[in-house]
Amino acid sequence: MNSPTDCCHCGVCCFSELPTYVRVYGGDWHRLGPAAEQVAHFIGNRAYMKMREGHCAALEQRRGPGGTPEFFCTVYAERPEICRALARGSPECEGELARKSAPRPLTA
Ligand code: SF4
Ligand code: SF4
Repeated sequence: MNSPTDCCHCGVCCFSELPTYVRVYGGDWHRLGPAAEQVAHFIGNRAYMKMREGHCAALEQRRGPGGTPEFFCTVYAERPEICRALARGSPECEGELARKSAPRPLTA
């Protein structure tokens, strides 16, 4: 499968119904700074990104030119390590694309 040329027009790896989808380790929490309390939380004694409506709480969805859906990580510079490791075109990216259906349509 060919990965998209731009993650902003994909966003697939930021979608999941799993509440424990994106682990937030201690270093991640520290790097997130004040945003950590808004976008992450503890489940038991481990921290994860909050998931809302089937996607990470830090994901922003917009409509670009012509109504094209666009996806942005609002904490991109401070995103967790697991997100940093998932590079576009990597086997993990290809796996995400192969495993998941298209993100839900925007409601905006
Ligand atoms: S890393 Fe891959 S799955 Fe994630 S947004 Fe980019 S192209 Fe899509
Ligand atoms: S932190 Fe950013 S890159 Fe990671 S899953 Fe959430 S929106 Fe996607």
